This record gives sequence, structure tokens and C-alpha cells, in this order.
Amino acid sequence: AGSTWSNVPQGPPVSITEAYKADKFELKVNLGVGAYRDGRGEPYVLPSVRVAEERILMKALDKEYAGITGVPSFTKAAIELAYGKSSPVLDRVAATQSISGTGALRVGGAFLERFYPYAKTVYLPTPSWANHAAIMKDSKLDIKSYRYYSKKTIGLDIDGLLEDIVNAPKGSIFLFHACAHNPTGVDPTPEQWRAISGAVKSGGHFPFFDMAYQGFASGDTDKDAYALRYFIEQGHPVALAQSFAKNMGLYGERVGAFSVLAESAEGKKRLDSQIKILVRPLYSNPPVNGARIASEILNDPTLNKQWLGEVKGMADRIISMRAALKTNLEQIGSKRDWNHITSQIGMFAYTGLGPEQVDRLAKEFSVYGTKDGRISVAGITSDNVKYLAQSIHKVTV
Ligand code: PLP
Repeated sequence: AGSTWSNVPQGPPVSITEAYKADKFELKVNLGVGAYRDGRGEPYVLPSVRVAEERILMKALDKEYAGITGVPSFTKAAIELAYGKSSPVLDRVAATQSISGTGALRVGGAFLERFYPYAKTVYLPTPSWANHAAIMKDSKLDIKSYRYYSKKTIGLDIDGLLEDIVNAPKGSIFLFHACAHNPTGVDPTPEQWRAISGAVKSGGHFPFFDMAYQGFASGDTDKDAYALRYFIEQGHPVALAQSFAKNMGLYGERVGAFSVLAESAEGKKRLDSQIKILVRPLYSNPPVNGARIASEILNDPTLNKQWLGEVKGMADRIISMRAALKTNLEQIGSKRDWNHITSQIGMFAYTGLGPEQVDRLAKEFSVYGTKDGRISVAGITSDNVKYLAQSIHKVTV
């Protein structure tokens, strides 16, 4: 006779870090992690975050519950960061603090499933961050995909993308990576975003932006919000998931926000009330510590300026490591075209390597990336870039 849980199958592993940890080779390289590393390959706590933490400690705040939608000074500042401080729509944005970007997507999925009147299908780019499909499925939405990445050009398949938007049933939900597409690092240009906006509008579709890397992509938080703000200018109703994991290095603090743009200030109140009703049975209210840190940084002009400099520092180190990898590959004599390494943006590079090559990198060279050929550029340092280039060269000749 089976016991209560005998029908639960063994699930596949969720992370590749275990293999890296078990490897004893001295020069091993971990390019699997989705977190920033400094020039020595170490986790990085932003100095602005340390300052904010000290200030919060000095204030000796209590540990009372936040409201259902979180720390108000944080949410307000988060929305201003995304939509723009002088955006005319700010009084129409219904927002809640969330359990980082993942939680924002999950609340967003639940909100759309309950209230979006025209469809229950979300279109995701191919490929996308693997968790997108899982989150939307758990929200009881159907998943479909739209073309995004071209293997041939190792770039954007803009024609396929536009065609899939135009051909989707009217009123479908489209999820877009606002910037620094994960896993490909391939983003539409501003001109391409304008074409995408036009196609979304003519299909009467609903755009849901996932902005997990604002500032982290280009080093400029306004530039990275271009797509979101352009769509709003064009009159789209939008939803937005924000994360402060990457741009403030607050990964484990779980700081994020979910927001929806209402048609009026009155409509915003109705949406606010329903967001509260959704969140309450999910987790009652979000944690306060990370939101207090982010609030301190976003609301204090001097600290904010310092933070923007630190975000740019992280973005610039990534950009320079892309260049170093490409240069090293060329110096070793690789005859392949590696231009995509420097034209892509954000934490990840989509190398174009196949699964066998990725396998060889791990087994023969102790270089760990993901099966799809994605490497985390944050894992590259001036100390390991030469070894990495040599290893990649050996599996691609
Ligand atoms: N969306 C994308 C595209 C991501 O890459 C990530 C993190 O890797 C997230 C959302 C959410 O991450 P978190 O829940 O840590 O904010």
C-alpha cells in the first residue's frame, strides 16, 4: 500500500551551483550564478546599502508589521524610479511592495488571472527566464510563446517577434523584459521598441513588463526604463514587476514592487483595494528591512546619487569584462565572430555555445555555465578571463 506522499515524484535539480561547489580544481570558474560579483569574484554589498543600514540601526525602529502593501515611502519611490519622477501618470499607478521580482510577477499573475477581462493567456519570449513560465502557470494562466531570439544572428528576431504579436488573439497578455533580457542579453533598440508598441496596440494586447535590471543594464536608470515609459506615452495600460535584487544587490532581502496603471485616479483606488485582497491570503504583508534600506537610498538625494554611481560601477565592470573576454578570444586566435559578447547587455552573455560544448567546458575545464550557453558575465574577473577564453576557444575550434 502506498503512503500519503508516494505519488509525489522526485523533481529535477533546480540549480547548477552544486556541481561547481563539488569541483576541487583551482582555476574553476562559476558562470552560473545570477548575482553580481566584484573584481575579485566576491559577493558585493553596495557601500550605499551599508550607509542606509547604519542609519536605520541608529533610528532604532520597531519591528511592527508593515501594511499589506508594504512600506509606503519605499513603494512611492520605487514607482517614481520606474515611471519617472515627473511622470504625469503617477497618481494612477496602483502599487504594492512585493517579495522581490518573483513575488511581483506572482502577484501580477494572480491579479491578471482574476481581473484581466480579455484573455487568460500570457505570451513569453523564446527563450525567457525559466521561472516566468512556472510563475504564470502557478497563477493559473495559460502560456504561449513569441519569437524573440535568432540562433542564426545571435540577435533579436524582430520580424518574427512582430509577426507573433500581430497574429496573437486580440487582447492577449504579452510579457516583456524591460531591459537586459535574461538569458540572451539581447534587447530591442528604441526604434524596435516603438515598432513593438505599435504592434501591441494594433492587437489590443496588454503589456506586462518585468524590470529586474533597471540601471544594471546600461548604468543609467532612465535609459533602462525607456520601453516602459514609451509604452505609457503611447497610452498603453501596463503592469510592471520591479526587483531591487540586482540594482541594489539586495538579493536575499527580497525587495520589489508590483504595479498596474489604472485609467483614472478613481480607478487606481479600486485596483489598490483588490491588490490588498489578493496579497492578504498569500503572505499577509511583506518584510520591512530591505524596503527600509531601499527607501533610505531612493529618498535621500545624496545617498541616491552615491547609489547611482555604484550601479554604474557594476554595469561598467560587466561591460569591461565583456570586452576583455572578446579581446582574449581574439588574441588566442579564435576565428569565430564574438561581436555578440559586447553587443549584448546586462549580467548575462548568450555565447551561442551548444549543450555539448557547455558540457565539455564543465567536465574538461571546470567552467560552469548553463546548458543553453548562457554565462554570467558577473563571474568573470581580470584574473580568470584569460583561462576562460582559452577554455572557450578549445571547445569551439
Ligand atoms: N525577472 C528576471 C528576468 C530575472 O532574471 C530575475 C532574477 O534572476 C527576476 C525576475 C526576479 O528575481 P528576484 O525575485 O530575485 O527579484
